[in-house]
Amino acid sequence: MNPQELGRAEDIERILIDEKVIEKRLDAMAEQIDREFPSGPIVALILLKGALVFAADLLRRLPRPLDIECLKVASYHGGTESSGVVTFLDHALPDVQGRHVLLLDDILDTGRTLQAVTQRLLSEGCAAVHTAVLLAKDRTREAEIDADYVGFVIGDEFVVGYGLDYKGRYRNLPFVGVLKSDIATPH
Ligand code: 5GP
Ligand code: MG
Repeated sequence: MNPQELGRAEDIERILIDEKVIEKRLDAMAEQIDREFPSGPIVALILLKGALVFAADLLRRLPRPLDIECLKVASYHGGTESSGVVTFLDHALPDVQGRHVLLLDDILDTGRTLQAVTQRLLSEGCAAVHTAVLLAKDRTREAEIDADYVGFVIGDEFVVGYGLDYKGRYRNLPFVGVLKSDIATPH
Protein backbone atom coordinates (compact mmCIF):
# COMPACT_ATOMS: atom_id res chain seq x y z
CA MET A 1 0.00 0.00 0.00
CA ASN A 2 1.35 3.41 -1.01
CA PRO A 3 1.69 5.41 2.25
CA GLN A 4 0.27 8.49 0.50
CA GLU A 5 -3.04 6.69 0.10
CA LEU A 6 -3.51 5.61 3.73
CA GLY A 7 -6.40 7.22 5.58
CA ARG A 8 -9.51 6.45 3.55
CA ALA A 9 -12.77 5.32 5.16
CA GLU A 10 -12.84 2.42 2.64
CA ASP A 11 -9.79 0.94 4.38
CA ILE A 12 -11.99 0.04 7.36
CA GLU A 13 -13.15 -3.56 7.50
CA ARG A 14 -15.52 -3.20 10.44
CA ILE A 15 -16.95 -0.35 12.50
CA LEU A 16 -16.69 -1.24 16.19
CA ILE A 17 -18.30 1.83 17.75
CA ASP A 18 -20.23 4.35 15.70
CA GLU A 19 -20.51 8.09 16.23
CA LYS A 20 -23.95 8.09 17.85
CA VAL A 21 -22.96 5.46 20.38
CA ILE A 22 -19.79 7.40 21.27
CA GLU A 23 -21.77 10.63 21.75
CA LYS A 24 -24.23 8.97 24.08
CA ARG A 25 -21.47 7.39 26.15
CA LEU A 26 -19.63 10.71 26.45
CA ASP A 27 -22.77 12.33 27.89
CA ALA A 28 -22.77 9.72 30.66
CA MET A 29 -19.01 9.91 31.26
CA ALA A 30 -19.04 13.70 31.58
CA GLU A 31 -21.94 13.50 33.97
CA GLN A 32 -20.11 10.94 36.12
CA ILE A 33 -16.84 12.91 36.11
CA ASP A 34 -18.64 16.12 37.08
CA ARG A 35 -20.44 14.32 39.90
CA GLU A 36 -17.39 12.52 41.29
CA PHE A 37 -14.65 15.09 40.85
CA PRO A 38 -13.73 17.26 43.84
CA SER A 39 -15.15 20.77 43.54
CA GLY A 40 -12.96 23.54 42.22
CA PRO A 41 -11.02 24.02 39.03
CA ILE A 42 -9.28 21.02 37.52
CA VAL A 43 -6.50 20.55 35.02
CA ALA A 44 -7.50 18.48 32.00
CA LEU A 45 -4.28 17.04 30.57
CA ILE A 46 -4.68 15.73 27.02
CA LEU A 47 -2.18 13.18 25.72
CA LEU A 48 -1.39 14.10 22.13
CA LYS A 49 -2.21 13.25 19.55
CA GLY A 50 -4.50 10.27 20.16
CA ALA A 51 -6.73 11.80 22.85
CA LEU A 52 -7.40 15.03 20.94
CA VAL A 53 -10.77 14.10 19.47
CA PHE A 54 -12.04 12.32 22.57
CA ALA A 55 -10.96 15.21 24.81
CA ALA A 56 -12.54 17.87 22.60
CA ASP A 57 -15.88 16.09 22.71
CA LEU A 58 -15.74 15.13 26.40
CA LEU A 59 -14.53 18.45 27.79
CA ARG A 60 -17.25 20.41 26.03
CA ARG A 61 -19.71 18.38 28.08
CA LEU A 62 -18.07 19.32 31.42
CA PRO A 63 -19.76 22.42 32.84
CA ARG A 64 -17.07 23.50 35.30
CA PRO A 65 -13.95 25.68 35.37
CA LEU A 66 -10.97 23.86 33.90
CA ASP A 67 -7.54 24.49 32.50
CA ILE A 68 -6.64 22.57 29.38
CA GLU A 69 -3.06 21.37 28.96
CA CYS A 70 -1.50 19.00 26.44
CA LEU A 71 1.40 16.59 26.65
CA LYS A 72 3.05 14.71 23.84
CA VAL A 73 4.16 11.17 24.58
CA ALA A 74 4.87 8.24 22.28
CA SER A 75 4.83 4.51 22.81
CA TYR A 76 4.15 3.36 19.25
CA HIS A 77 6.58 4.08 16.49
CA GLY A 78 4.47 3.68 13.38
CA GLY A 79 3.38 0.04 13.60
CA THR A 80 0.51 -1.72 15.35
CA GLU A 81 2.37 -2.90 18.45
CA SER A 82 3.52 -0.92 21.47
CA SER A 83 7.30 -0.47 21.60
CA GLY A 84 7.29 -0.84 25.39
CA VAL A 85 9.07 2.48 25.94
CA VAL A 86 7.18 5.65 26.83
CA THR A 87 8.95 8.74 25.51
CA PHE A 88 8.13 12.26 26.76
CA LEU A 89 8.37 14.51 23.73
CA ASP A 90 7.91 17.76 25.67
CA HIS A 91 10.72 19.21 27.74
CA ALA A 92 8.53 20.68 30.45
CA LEU A 93 5.33 19.50 32.07
CA PRO A 94 2.51 21.99 32.77
CA ASP A 95 2.39 23.35 36.32
CA VAL A 96 0.29 20.84 38.24
CA GLN A 97 1.49 21.61 41.77
CA GLY A 98 -1.36 20.94 44.23
CA ARG A 99 -3.89 20.48 41.41
CA HIS A 100 -6.33 17.69 40.59
CA VAL A 101 -5.53 16.41 37.14
CA LEU A 102 -7.92 14.69 34.76
CA LEU A 103 -5.54 12.77 32.51
CA LEU A 104 -7.08 11.91 29.14
CA ASP A 105 -5.86 9.26 26.72
CA ASP A 106 -7.43 7.55 23.75
CA ILE A 107 -6.87 3.95 24.77
CA LEU A 108 -5.54 1.86 27.63
CA ASP A 109 -3.53 -1.05 26.27
CA THR A 110 -0.41 -2.25 28.14
CA GLY A 111 -0.96 0.52 30.73
CA ARG A 112 2.59 1.83 30.41
CA THR A 113 1.61 5.26 29.09
CA LEU A 114 -0.88 6.10 31.84
CA GLN A 115 1.45 4.70 34.47
CA ALA A 116 4.49 6.67 33.27
CA VAL A 117 2.57 9.94 33.00
CA THR A 118 0.78 9.43 36.33
CA GLN A 119 4.10 8.84 38.11
CA ARG A 120 5.61 11.88 36.50
CA LEU A 121 2.66 14.09 37.53
CA LEU A 122 2.77 12.84 41.12
CA SER A 123 6.50 13.47 41.28
CA GLU A 124 5.77 17.05 40.13
CA GLY A 125 3.54 17.49 43.20
CA CYS A 126 0.04 17.30 41.78
CA ALA A 127 -2.71 16.57 44.35
CA ALA A 128 -4.21 13.58 42.50
CA VAL A 129 -4.41 12.06 39.04
CA HIS A 130 -7.77 10.83 37.75
CA THR A 131 -7.57 9.00 34.45
CA ALA A 132 -10.13 8.83 31.63
CA VAL A 133 -9.86 6.85 28.41
CA LEU A 134 -12.24 6.38 25.52
CA LEU A 135 -11.25 2.73 25.12
CA ALA A 136 -9.70 0.02 27.29
CA LYS A 137 -8.49 -3.24 25.79
CA ASP A 138 -9.67 -6.38 27.50
CA ARG A 139 -6.25 -7.87 28.22
CA THR A 140 -3.71 -8.32 30.98
CA ARG A 141 -1.85 -5.06 31.58
CA GLU A 142 1.92 -4.93 31.74
CA ALA A 143 1.76 -1.97 34.11
CA GLU A 144 -0.48 -2.11 37.15
CA ILE A 145 -2.94 0.63 36.38
CA ASP A 146 -6.61 0.94 35.55
CA ALA A 147 -8.43 4.00 34.30
CA ASP A 148 -10.95 5.68 36.60
CA TYR A 149 -13.28 6.45 33.68
CA VAL A 150 -13.59 4.14 30.67
CA GLY A 151 -15.80 4.77 27.65
CA PHE A 152 -15.80 1.27 26.16
CA VAL A 153 -14.01 -1.99 26.81
CA ILE A 154 -12.93 -3.57 23.51
CA GLY A 155 -11.20 -6.78 22.45
CA ASP A 156 -7.44 -7.02 22.07
CA GLU A 157 -7.18 -5.83 18.47
CA PHE A 158 -5.69 -2.79 16.74
CA VAL A 159 -8.25 -0.03 16.16
CA VAL A 160 -8.24 3.35 14.43
CA GLY A 161 -10.49 6.39 14.13
CA TYR A 162 -11.86 9.01 16.53
CA GLY A 163 -8.31 10.19 17.27
CA LEU A 164 -6.51 6.86 16.94
CA ASP A 165 -4.09 6.50 14.04
CA TYR A 166 -2.27 4.06 11.87
CA LYS A 167 0.90 5.63 10.48
CA GLY A 168 -0.48 9.06 11.35
CA ARG A 169 -3.74 8.66 9.43
CA TYR A 170 -7.39 7.77 10.20
CA ARG A 171 -7.59 10.05 13.26
CA ASN A 172 -10.37 12.07 11.64
CA LEU A 173 -12.75 9.16 11.12
CA PRO A 174 -15.82 9.84 13.31
CA PHE A 175 -16.05 6.21 14.50
CA VAL A 176 -13.76 3.52 15.95
CA GLY A 177 -13.03 0.69 13.54
CA VAL A 178 -10.70 -2.09 12.49
CA LEU A 179 -8.53 -1.81 9.38
CA LYS A 180 -8.61 -4.34 6.56
CA SER A 181 -5.85 -6.88 7.07
CA ASP A 182 -3.97 -5.89 3.90
CA ILE A 183 -3.65 -2.29 5.19
CA ALA A 184 -2.25 -2.77 8.72
CA THR A 185 1.03 -4.61 9.08
CA PRO A 186 2.67 -5.12 12.49
CA HIS A 187 5.75 -3.02 11.71
P1 5GP B 1 -0.23 1.59 26.47
O1 5GP B 1 0.88 2.47 26.95
O2 5GP B 1 -1.38 1.44 27.42
O3 5GP B 1 0.27 0.28 25.93
O4 5GP B 1 -0.82 2.19 25.15
C1 5GP B 1 -1.36 3.37 25.09
C2 5GP B 1 -1.03 4.03 23.77
O5 5GP B 1 -0.77 3.09 22.70
C3 5GP B 1 -2.24 4.79 23.36
O6 5GP B 1 -2.13 6.12 23.77
C4 5GP B 1 -2.24 4.67 21.85
O7 5GP B 1 -1.52 5.75 21.32
C5 5GP B 1 -1.49 3.43 21.54
N1 5GP B 1 -2.40 2.31 21.20
C6 5GP B 1 -2.68 1.22 21.94
N2 5GP B 1 -3.55 0.41 21.34
C7 5GP B 1 -3.85 1.00 20.16
C8 5GP B 1 -4.71 0.65 19.07
O8 5GP B 1 -5.42 -0.37 19.04
N3 5GP B 1 -4.74 1.52 18.02
C9 5GP B 1 -4.01 2.67 17.99
N4 5GP B 1 -4.14 3.43 16.92
N5 5GP B 1 -3.18 3.02 18.99
C10 5GP B 1 -3.12 2.21 20.07
MG1 MG C 1 -1.39 7.60 22.49
